[in-house]
Amino acid sequence: MNKKDYIIDNFTADESEVREYLTRPFFMDDLVVASNGHILIFRKEKKGDKFEELKTVSGSTVKQIRNGYINKALAITDWHEFPVDFEAPEYQEATSRKCPDCNGFRELNFYSGSHEYTVTCKECNGEGETLQREIIRCKVNGQQFDYHYIRKITALENLKIYQDKDKPELLFFKSGEYMGAIMGLKN
Ligand SMILES: [Zn+2]
Repeated sequence: MNKKDYIIDNFTADESEVREYLTRPFFMDDLVVASNGHILIFRKEKKGDKFEELKTVSGSTVKQIRNGYINKALAITDWHEFPVDFEAPEYQEATSRKCPDCNGFRELNFYSGSHEYTVTCKECNGEGETLQREIIRCKVNGQQFDYHYIRKITALENLKIYQDKDKPELLFFKSGEYMGAIMGLKN
């Protein structure tokens, strides 16, 4: 049996992530973990789970994930309902930047055998510029978070949260067998 875990899968990084190990869930000890570097989720390993061990990253990265997020989440005893103090998101204007694919040249050159051919850049539609991903900020207990990630956790059932008063930039969450953390934005 190898059932897909859609909740875990929803927290991995997309293909463009340079830390390749974040693009799929992985085993860490007796846990299954997924993260995109800004948000992390984990649950206990279950029979039938098929994921890879984290072999390609350094021991210090593993330790940081384990001690910095997982062990802290596991030690929390006073979970709260969400939201405690939630400020509606502020929409930020998207800013334009030089297209990362064509580097602003509007087209891309390809070689096939001895032939060179040019195509209009698809990323920017030949404009040479693309829009930076829009971050919609919201506040939970006065701390700013990317609303995109808050929405991911508010979609979970029976959501509980925890924020340390001294470290509100880490928002821990719990939903049934799942636990995790969201890293906040600079206020
Ligand atoms: Zn382009």
